[in-house]
This record gives sequence, structure tokens and C-alpha cells, in this order.
Amino acid sequence: MSQLLQTSIEYLKGVGPKRAELLKKGLNIHTFGELMTHYPFRYVDKTKFYTISELHPDLPYIQIVGEFVHIETIGATRQKRLSAIFKDDTGRIQVVWFKGIKFLGSTVRVGVKYVLYGKVNAFNNSLSIVHPELETLVEYKNTLQSTLQAVYASTEKLNNSGLNSKNIVKLQKNLFTQIIGKIPENLSSDIIDRYKLLSREKALIQLHFPKNAEILKRAIFRLKFEELFFIQLELLKLKLINTNKTRGFAFPSIGDYFNHFYEQNLAFELTNAQKRVLKEIRKDMGTGRQMNRLLQGDVGSGKTVVGLMSMLMAIDNGFQACLMAPTEILAQQHYASLSEMLEGMPVKISLLTGSVKVKERRIIHKELESGELHILVGTHALLEDKVKFHNLGLCVIDEQHRFGVAQRARLWKKNSNGVPHILVMTATPIPRTLAMTLYGDLDVSVIDELPPGRKPIETIHWFENKRERLWGVLREQIKLGRQVYIVYPLIDESEKMDYANLQAGFEDVLNKFPRPDYQVSIVHGQMTNENKEFEMQRFVNGETHIMVATTVIEVGVNVPNASLMVIESAERFGLSQLHQLRGRVGRGAEQSYCYLMTGYKLSDDGKLRMKTMTETNDGFQIAEVDLKLRGPGDLSGTQQSGVPVNLKLTNLAKDGQMIEIARNAAKDILDKDPNLQLPEHQPILAFAREQQRGKTNWSRIS
Ligand code: ADP
Ligand code: MG
Repeated sequence: MSQLLQTSIEYLKGVGPKRAELLKKGLNIHTFGELMTHYPFRYVDKTKFYTISELHPDLPYIQIVGEFVHIETIGATRQKRLSAIFKDDTGRIQVVWFKGIKFLGSTVRVGVKYVLYGKVNAFNNSLSIVHPELETLVEYKNTLQSTLQAVYASTEKLNNSGLNSKNIVKLQKNLFTQIIGKIPENLSSDIIDRYKLLSREKALIQLHFPKNAEILKRAIFRLKFEELFFIQLELLKLKLINTNKTRGFAFPSIGDYFNHFYEQNLAFELTNAQKRVLKEIRKDMGTGRQMNRLLQGDVGSGKTVVGLMSMLMAIDNGFQACLMAPTEILAQQHYASLSEMLEGMPVKISLLTGSVKVKERRIIHKELESGELHILVGTHALLEDKVKFHNLGLCVIDEQHRFGVAQRARLWKKNSNGVPHILVMTATPIPRTLAMTLYGDLDVSVIDELPPGRKPIETIHWFENKRERLWGVLREQIKLGRQVYIVYPLIDESEKMDYANLQAGFEDVLNKFPRPDYQVSIVHGQMTNENKEFEMQRFVNGETHIMVATTVIEVGVNVPNASLMVIESAERFGLSQLHQLRGRVGRGAEQSYCYLMTGYKLSDDGKLRMKTMTETNDGFQIAEVDLKLRGPGDLSGTQQSGVPVNLKLTNLAKDGQMIEIARNAAKDILDKDPNLQLPEHQPILAFAREQQRGKTNWSRIS
């Protein structure tokens, strides 16, 4: 980056030490460059004025011109506000401020023409505008240069210190006067031509001071492109490093284990999606480059058998394999189902969890090191240093979101002679575009097809008034010999209220379903692991009819006889969590049901979540809605890749197509010039380096 852009913001005309401090603390702006990339978050269309008689609450932000006829401060200290009446030739509207009362009270004048900008609200059948921005008509005319006026995010503190959006516009003007002609390009001219992009400088100028809507659109496109391009470049580069520098084991042949399993043991026909994914995995592991693959598939799509057949490929080539699950129960279930599927085959398989006794453990360690053991199934216990393999060729990780980057790194160390292939299986559907960004350094396979004959789960949304009918539904299902889950929200285990609700709910259920006719289990996060396992196991074995639980049962558990899932206070769960919970039923041949119980008062989001759940069983469709509802803001929590995703302009929910375009552009560049050595790629390299500074480098382990 040019020296100029590194200049401390203090030295910009109109800033100085005091304002510099405010900009640093309030907006994290330290340098010229950071102010330059402090982007507007919306624009005022200066060409459009409304009259007061035209106003209604469904309008976007609007602009009106008129004057105040009355201004007064009302209310006591806490609810104090400034209330005013604003009028034009067509009518009057109330205007209210809750903050900055003193300043506004002493500056806003009755009888002077103002331009007001804000959002119209309807309250008690009358219209008002809360916290509008305002400017005298004289000021307004003076600053009118373009038809669109940038509006910047500011903070209350900055506003009160005279650094509101308008003043930031002034600073931007000062800045651009100084840096114009000196903003370096960061893309190659080839890319700029091919994608018809504005130059970086032009795009930045137009973003801050757009001449019209048309060119603003192009400016935003260019800057989004750039944002995504550099993320994709980094991700693809990581992938390249993994591919080239990390030696993997080549599994060239499919042998007896795989073939025998396929011909003799496999009880069903694989779905086309399963076949396709197996081919992808086979191809990966055949090349000798180390595989890092994410396998996505909705709950019940049949990921386990794909994991098993991949492990058989490893065994066919003389290697060992392991399968790691996030909980003891899941590990046990996997062990049981793999053993059953492998019945009659000479495959040696063991289970290693925290509760395996020392004596047994020693045997496992020994057989692992000698290579006698083919498959080891387990929990995090697999990661302990004592667990050493003879030659681990493939590690399958189930439900990856419980495994962090650091744990993956430990896996890498299990072999001295190379890094095992890694297959991460997840039932959390991620929209494709998002996967490209979050997991861009992994390869992604998708099972997008359920095994035939599955009955879609019927989902019903009920309010509290149907409570008695709900108990009736439970009785019916139990009478048919089925089992029932009732799930309570317990988002944070320390939330006392939730815990009280759970206990009250449990007692309620016990009252309605008394012993000895009914057996009820409870599982929650405040129980010891041992007790949890015990209760879960009773339910798995069919000894209890009803499982009252918190979300601890969310992941993976397989009880095919359970046909009814009741989710209490369903409005408090996110969409993907609701979908995961629902996936606990519908695993057997029987028709299954999911009842979403909510309070009467639902937010718009809440309504949409319930509607989505009752309308579709498709995890990917649900994930798309979820992403749109939650927005990309929540990404850091789910982020798996080594590249921090910090997007200023791009909305991952809406800009899916842009991601693909940028990814392709980055791929073209790296294909041609992996180390960015060509002269025309120097601007790209310089900028990428600049961005890299200060970032943790996770490339080796992600
Ligand atoms: P998940 O993807 O949620 O881990 P599982 O691997 O547990 O799903 O599979 C769910 C059930 O579907 C299992 O009982 C499994 O045996 C069965 N299954 C998997 N693939 C097929 C198939 N192609 N045809 C029929 N049943 C299948
Ligand atoms: Mg599974």
C-alpha cells in the first residue's frame, strides 16, 4: 500500500488529535486508508422529495422539506424526549428525538426551512418520524453535488462530538482531495478488462460520491468483486499448498474388502448421490495428494456407509482408518452399526472412548501399533498422544462442528510418514456459496438425495391452546409402540429460567404419563456424563417411552423407533437447529411427526421459521432461509476455514453469484501463475501481502 494511505488519520485536514482519538475508538479508523474504506451504508436520493400527505409507514427512508412549527422537551429524566411538529403545504407530522436533546433543542429553529430525512412510523394511528437527520435548506443546497448523498455509520458519541455522517462526508472530501491519483490498483488489467470493472480509484470515488445510481452500482460491483476475489485467492492458495506440499498416501486400487462389502454385505442399493460422492473420494485418494474433503448430507442421507466404504478403500491398500464422533453415545452407535454392516468380514474393529477400561485400552493400543486393528471408532479419546497407529490412512470425522482446528492439527501428527486423508461429514447443510467461502480450502461433496421410501416427516405448528390434544398425540404414538422426544430450549446451560422450565415441563410430563404404564427419561447439560449416557442408553434400548431433553440430543443420535418430536418454545430455536432436532425422528419405516409448540406472540422472523419448517423437509432450502434471516453476521461462529471472512460490502446470502465469479477469476490467475510472479500480477501480490499482515496463519492445519 502506498505510504500516503498509511498516514495517521490525525494529519488529515479537519481531524487533529482529538477527533483522531474519537475516530480510532469509535470507528476503528487509524489511517487515511481506513477512512477510505469506511464505506457508506446507504444513500439519500436527493432527487426525490415526498410531501407530508404522501407519507405512509411502508415507504423506505424518505426526504421531506418544510419547517418546524413547534418544538418542546417533554417527559421526566428517563423518558425525556424532544417532540416537534413539522409541516409543509400538504400537512403536518410529528418528529421525535430521544437523544441529543440538548444540542438539538438549542440549534433547531422554528420557521426556518429544513430538509428532513428519515423513516416514517405509525404509532397509535398517527404518523411520526423518529430521529430524522436534518439540514437547513440552505446547507442542503450548498452540499448538493450529486444526486446521491452517502450516509456513514457513526456512533452516538461521535455524533455528539460533531462527527456525524455529514461531517464524515466532509472528511472524505478532504481525504479524496489529497489522495486522488494516488490510490493504487490491486487487480490486473486483464481481470479489469475481462469483468468490465471500474478502476479501484474510480470505484472508491464513486462509492463515496456517486454521480448517479448507475455508476454507483458499478462501483459496488467492483469493490465486492475485489473483496471476494482476495478471499478466494487466499483460500485457493491454501488448497494449493495442501495439495502440493502435503504428501498424501496413494490408494491406487479397490480390493477385496471393498468389493466383498459391496457385493455381499451391502443391504441396499446406494443412491446415485452416494455413488457420485464415493467416486469423488476414490479419485482424491487415488492421486497421492492428501484429501481434505467435506461431505455434506442432510440428516438420514446415508453418510455413514459412505464413510465406511471409504475406510475399506484404505484397508484395501494396507492402511488403517478411524472414525471420530463428537460424543460417546454417537461413537457407540457408529461402532455398533459398522460392526453389524461388516458382519462376516475379516475386518478388525474396536471402540475407544473415555470409559474404556485400562486393560482393554492397552490391547487396543497394542493392536493399533502392530497394524492388526483395521478400524478404530471413538471420541476425542482418539486424539490422545498415547494412541499411535501403525499406518493411519484415513480419518473420518462425523459432525465436524464439534471439532476445532487445533484438534484436526493433532490428527495430522498421528503418523510419522505422512498425513492421513481426512473426510469430514456434516449434517449441517450449508448453501453452496457459503460453503465456498467458509470451506473454500476444502473440497466439498454433497449427498443431495435421500434413500428411497422415506416418508417425509409431518410438521405441525401449535400454540399452547392445543396442549391437551398434544398429550393425546403422545399417547397414541406410545400405544403404537413408538417413542417420543420432548425438547426444551436450554441455550446457555447457566440460564436458570430455562432450567426451571425444563424441570416444570418434566414434572408435567410425569403427571400426565405416570408410572408404571409410562417410563420417562430426562437428559440435560447439568447432569454428569455418566448419568446422561445411562438415560440415553435406556431410551436407545427402548426401555423408556419419552425422552425429555435439552438440545444435548441434537446431534446424530439414531433411535429409529422414535416417531414423534415435540419442540417446546420452538420460537427460541434457530432454523438449522430445528431442522437438526426434527432429524432425530423419521429414521424408521413409520410415519413420523414433529410438533412445534410456541407462544402466541411471534416475531416476523419467528413466524417465517415456523412456516418454513412446516412447509419443507429440505435441509438446503432451510439453510438458505436461515442464512437470509440471520444474515452473514453470524458467520464467525460457524467458520471452519483458516481464512477470516471479513466482508464489508458483500452479503453472502444475496451475492452468491458474485462469489462464483470471483472464485473463477482467482482460479484462473493461480492456474497460470501460482506464485504471482508475473509482472502483471504484482498489484495483486502487493495487496494480498498487505492484507495478510497481522493475520494468524492457519494454513498448515486447516
Ligand atoms: P446420516 O447421513 O444422517 O448419518 P445414516 O448414515 O445414519 O445417515 O443413514 C441413515 C439410515 O439410512 C441408516 O439406517 C442407513 O443404513 C440407511 N441407508 C443409508 N443409505 C441407504 C440407501 N442407499 N438405501 C437405503 N437405506 C440407506
Ligand atoms: Mg450420521
